[in-house]
Amino acid sequence: MNPYSDVDKKILGEIYSGNEPMKNLEVLCDIYKSRWPGTEDDINSVKYMLEKLHEYGLEDAYYEPFKIPGWRRGPAKLEVTSPIQKEFDVISLPHSISGEIEAKLVDLGPGPIEIYEKRKEEIDGNVVMCSSARPLGMNRSLHRTEKFTRSILAGAKGWIFMNHYPAYGPPTGGISPIIPSVGLAYEDGSFIQRLLAREGEVKVKITTTDKNLEVTTHNVIADVDGTSGEKEYVITGSHYDGHDISQGAVDPASGAVVVMEMARVLNMVKDKLKRRIRFMCFGAEETGLFGSYYHTSAHEDELADCRFMLNLDSAGGESRKGITFHDYPELEPFLTKWREEMNAEMPMGQRTGPYSDHWPFFLKGVPSGGGGDPERRAARTGRGYGHTKYDTLDKVDRTYVRLAAANYSRFLIRVANADDWAPRRKTQEDIQAFIKKMGYDETIALTDKVKDYVRGWDSHHPDTVDWLERDSAW
Ligand SMILES: [Zn+2]
Repeated sequence: MNPYSDVDKKILGEIYSGNEPMKNLEVLCDIYKSRWPGTEDDINSVKYMLEKLHEYGLEDAYYEPFKIPGWRRGPAKLEVTSPIQKEFDVISLPHSISGEIEAKLVDLGPGPIEIYEKRKEEIDGNVVMCSSARPLGMNRSLHRTEKFTRSILAGAKGWIFMNHYPAYGPPTGGISPIIPSVGLAYEDGSFIQRLLAREGEVKVKITTTDKNLEVTTHNVIADVDGTSGEKEYVITGSHYDGHDISQGAVDPASGAVVVMEMARVLNMVKDKLKRRIRFMCFGAEETGLFGSYYHTSAHEDELADCRFMLNLDSAGGESRKGITFHDYPELEPFLTKWREEMNAEMPMGQRTGPYSDHWPFFLKGVPSGGGGDPERRAARTGRGYGHTKYDTLDKVDRTYVRLAAANYSRFLIRVANADDWAPRRKTQEDIQAFIKKMGYDETIALTDKVKDYVRGWDSHHPDTVDWLERDSAW
């Protein structure tokens, strides 16, 4: 027996007979490009999303502006200066400072945790290259920022992030404004590795011309009110900002258009909705989860009433549309029952990490989960074309966008309506214990450690001084 039979049919009929998400995706990607924080395309894309949400009947949809440390890219150069002369196509990593460094190259491969201490003497004062590959034998992924931070602590004065995927060009991804840092394609990185193996010593020169500056960006917020008038509510969201070198079509826009589609169809069945659902498109996720951190601090007093946060970053990408709960095993029986009732394939898992917009909510004790295929996520070896200029609209298949909207909208109305939904609220002690268990306590401590270390330097780039004065996001 499916008590939501009529609601499900209405939602599915709307999703599968319309094409709103793909139309929105085309506007977000082809017209507003990457929607990089603080640009004209950023604010114009926000206005577009609001206009559409208003058109869908969510008249009160609005945006909240906030200031963040932004960044503007300039041309970057990588040269081998000895024993041969050769120049390579590279791109700066977001938040790189402008500068020039010529020094010996130290190649750390995928950059396993123990290597930075072990090779500290070689690294000190030189340029480090790490690939985006996941080091062998780790039970968690080792994020770019951790490889970067550990390189700094070992004394690196320039940093190269080499793609481990062929044919996708140089990768991007935020780091901290400390040293000139660039992304390098797999083929060029491989060339340099061969040269290093043959010659024993290679000198490189990195030149960057970027600018760190304060900018204003935005969160888009649209509520569909429930009939009960209760304060308790549910949040779902995806960031809308992509990396500046790409359309950010799969990551994140495919998720943002799924969120908009769910707002559209759930607004149509709002007479059947008990508790409010808040739909959000977060700004500035890529460079530090700024939108979600801003929202959870500006709305902190409401979070005790938030019964669930479902993060749909990149949700329209090619995968099954299940849910990974963020260490809330008591929520599994709900999904087990509902996916049967919905006749939907929704694989389920338990895992979390600090690299998307659910994290600030998780830290405040809000029960949360993320969309996607838990099995595939566990087997993932990297981002593929993600965070390169090849994350373009043509990678998004309507089939998966629809499936995401179909599964998650039906799941969310059930979360909002269930009277027996009562996951245990994690205390701050529980959260800290979990972070420790996952090994993220060391990652988080590294952020403070690197600031203390860099403070000890004789001189600093002005962008580094600003960064040292800011509080860490986490
Ligand atoms: Zn993303």
